[in-house]
Amino acid sequence: MIDSNDVVRLERVSRSYGTGPNAVTALDGVTVGFARGTFTAVMGPSGSGKSTLLQCAAGLDRPDAGTVVVDGVDLGGLTETALTELRRERLGFIFQSFNLLGALTAEQNVGLPLRLAGRRPDADRVRTALAQVGLGERVGHLPSQLSGGQQQRVAIARALISAPKVLFADEPTGALDSTSSREVLTLLRSLVDGQGQSTIMVTHDPVAASYADTVLFLADGQVVDHLVGPDPQTVAERMTGLEAARGGGARR
Ligand code: ADP
Repeated sequence: MIDSNDVVRLERVSRSYGTGPNAVTALDGVTVGFARGTFTAVMGPSGSGKSTLLQCAAGLDRPDAGTVVVDGVDLGGLTETALTELRRERLGFIFQSFNLLGALTAEQNVGLPLRLAGRRPDADRVRTALAQVGLGERVGHLPSQLSGGQQQRVAIARALISAPKVLFADEPTGALDSTSSREVLTLLRSLVDGQGQSTIMVTHDPVAASYADTVLFLADGQVVDHLVGPDPQTVAERMTGLEAARGGGARR
């Protein structure tokens, strides 16, 4: 699964928490590649290492062992400052909880990453980003004046404003009803299809995962399976199998 077209590559990545008898192996020698321009969902039982995988892949956490390469850069060689800069310049993030600032309009929220990077947000660019997520008419709205699905779309526009090489999504539909979820997932899919936006999404929802090109399944800190061209039923069946096989093997 590893080749040079990978926008993110993990090689023998391990990450443990704690020491001695309480140590937990969250990732156990994971080797996996995420092809540029594709949409990958990461699934697995609770505690299987999904968040840790996402955090290591996005340079938010450092593995104890192994290599993470993002857009050709080996993260292991970077200082904290360089890592922060790489995240800001090359990566986009969306979360379950949207993380919008309540006192700022949609437009101001979307422009925020540029401001934080010391650049003056270009109004046209911000409006184009909001139009791209279908919110061209809502630029002056506050988050409280928007539905959950609309708020997540503002968060997506904010993540895309710096043209990230990879969009990381951590349970992006976890707080949404099924209609809003569909809206957000359709948008993510169209960004992949329309502009080749590489996207990596952690989810526990088989329907959400079915929007991806590939689903990776984790169990006990290892990639144990993958599914290309997933449909919700097959994803749900694989998950049921993993839940049934679950025996706390990640604890050492
Ligand atoms: P998932 O996202 O699949 O639920 P995580 O990556 O959050 O799994 O966690 C994998 C394992 O690592 C779990 O056993 C979890 O309790 C443990 N873990 C994760 N983060 C920490 C942490 N900061 N401190 C201690 N243990 C952690």
